[in-house]
Amino acid sequence: MNEVHLREVMPAIWLAERPLDAEMSVCAAIILGKTVSAVVDTLIRPEDMAPVRDLLDRHGQPVLIVNTHADWDHTWGNAAFPDTPIIAHRLCRAAMLTAGQRTLAEKQAEEPERYRTVTIVPPTITFTEFMDIDLGGLTLSIHHLPGHTADEAVVHLPEAGVLFAGDAAEWPIPTASDGPIGPWANGLHRWAARDDVRTVVPAHGAVGDAQLLRDNAIYLDALLADPDVRWEPPGIMPFYQEAHRKNAAIARRERDAARR
Ligand SMILES: [Zn+2]
Repeated sequence: MNEVHLREVMPAIWLAERPLDAEMSVCAAIILGKTVSAVVDTLIRPEDMAPVRDLLDRHGQPVLIVNTHADWDHTWGNAAFPDTPIIAHRLCRAAMLTAGQRTLAEKQAEEPERYRTVTIVPPTITFTEFMDIDLGGLTLSIHHLPGHTADEAVVHLPEAGVLFAGDAAEWPIPTASDGPIGPWANGLHRWAARDDVRTVVPAHGAVGDAQLLRDNAIYLDALLADPDVRWEPPGIMPFYQEAHRKNAAIARRERDAARR
């Protein structure tokens, strides 16, 4: 059974979503440009990309891959696209070849059958600040926005008013693995204020609008102002309770560094 669910969210833009566990899911995006198609993230294993490949084959244009960041749930399907350019931040390549390899060994030991076909396929084209690519009628504009991880990027389609946030924004809160939190929050505020950001697609959670970016930024601002701030919405899933504790630890470290 293929657990990947494919749906068209607006003309030429599709999402491919799969469950990660009982509570969380992850999604990838497919943009069918007139001259080039793009796949933003590749889920957790090459098999996940089978329905995506069918969609791309029917459309018939050359394909490029973008990885928003190196984490396993965004890049482990890369091997489904041999001889295809893979674009990501410079630090993504390094992270996949070090921490990514270690995570793969761990997960293959835990669940050998589930991750049997996964190999680490790092990006072949890297950028540092941003990169614009003309897909024919749509611009794919990739921008570094570190905070969740140091290599995190968001992908903007200005003509469609869509921002694929990767893990730079999440519902209900973002999760900081690396920080820094201050510039990250500022970046989210800037994206939220743009006229050409009307639909926001986080990799984890429901499709939203610029308010999701703003809410994430306000949460990060509050955390930086007071890392001990209470955040206990009713019924919140354990993953995000734990994420909040980790976010607070990073905020505390940043605040202390700023005071020195
Ligand atoms: Zn993720």
